[in-house]
Amino acid sequence: METIDLLKKNFEKRGFHFDYFENSEQAVDFILSLIPEKSSIGFGGSMTVMETGLLDAMQKKDYDLIHRAIRTDIPANEIFLRMYTCDWYVSSANAITENGEIINIDGRGNRVSAILDGPKKVVILCGVNKIVSDIAEGIDRTRNVASPKNCVRLNKKTPCAVTGKCEKCNSPDTICKATVILHHPTTGTEVYVVVVNKELGY
Ligand code: SF4
Repeated sequence: METIDLLKKNFEKRGFHFDYFENSEQAVDFILSLIPEKSSIGFGGSMTVMETGLLDAMQKKDYDLIHRAIRTDIPANEIFLRMYTCDWYVSSANAITENGEIINIDGRGNRVSAILDGPKKVVILCGVNKIVSDIAEGIDRTRNVASPKNCVRLNKKTPCAVTGKCEKCNSPDTICKATVILHHPTTGTEVYVVVVNKELGY
């Protein structure tokens, strides 16, 4: 709990909300209580949102969910644009630091840009496997853990999809085109960091 206390102190000092739950069910209930029904919600590509059951639980509520797996009636490019004007945005992170920073790496940039200047309320949901000590360890995690697994999942033609670690590629297929470190919520945006005591996503 020492690490969680430290995370809470450091995230709140930077202006983030921070909550910790022992299991996914508690975290899902909390997020559902946070987001009023009738809200529109956009999503960053996230295994965590699926693995916690959050997306399933949201589908049983009266939300307008702008998610690629749900809104197959809307072309992908339009979905990305619609997400910027949603009431809420839900994503995971590639790493969160004990100092209270959020690190994400992106190929298209839709996820990091929506977190920076999209919906005015953002939820970052992650498992304890995303906790790192500092920015250097976080970037190492994004390159050597998260990105190789995501490249395999997304069928990208990158060396890390074969070797399982970053080969510092310049492949057109790289998903490491933008690394964004959120030191504070950006102006006008409220960010809720929700951590679950479980390994979730990459
Ligand atoms: S830079 Fe290239 S090799 Fe390294 S993790 Fe990203 S996609 Fe993989």
